[in-house]
Amino acid sequence: MKVHLKQIPPEGLHLEGEEECPISDVQTDDIRCLGSMSYNVDIGVAGGALWATGSLKQTVELRCVVCLLKFVHEVRVPAFAMRTELHGPETIDLTPFLREDLLLNLPPHPRCDRDGCVVCEVTQRRAAPAEAKRNVAWSALDKLKIKR
Ligand SMILES: [Zn+2]
Repeated sequence: MKVHLKQIPPEGLHLEGEEECPISDVQTDDIRCLGSMSYNVDIGVAGGALWATGSLKQTVELRCVVCLLKFVHEVRVPAFAMRTELHGPETIDLTPFLREDLLLNLPPHPRCDRDGCVVCEVTQRRAAPAEAKRNVAWSALDKLKIKR
């Protein structure tokens, strides 16, 4: 996202729209951009610096670390804020700042937590109290008895 200093009036500029996914360069089998990023930012110039605040949203497809299935996740940056000194060029590219904040808000260990995610459900059961575990064990024994 590039802004030209001449586009920014003294009272600031409000920008809202969509921009090509800024984290497309980090795409792997485990992370993929779905569509473009939506942004809602206020930009201004003060004291020889350009600042921007607002919010960002980017939908991505991630791979669940538990069951390895892919799921859709919305990366949200509710309080995006950046400031950069102005020196020289009149056109400033905000993309590196947007990219960094999106990357910081990616879950480090993505989990799908979906209903019917068999592996995730099994993991939850394993994490359940001992009582529940014993009941599962007994019901397995009961099934064996029935077979005999
Ligand atoms: Zn899962």
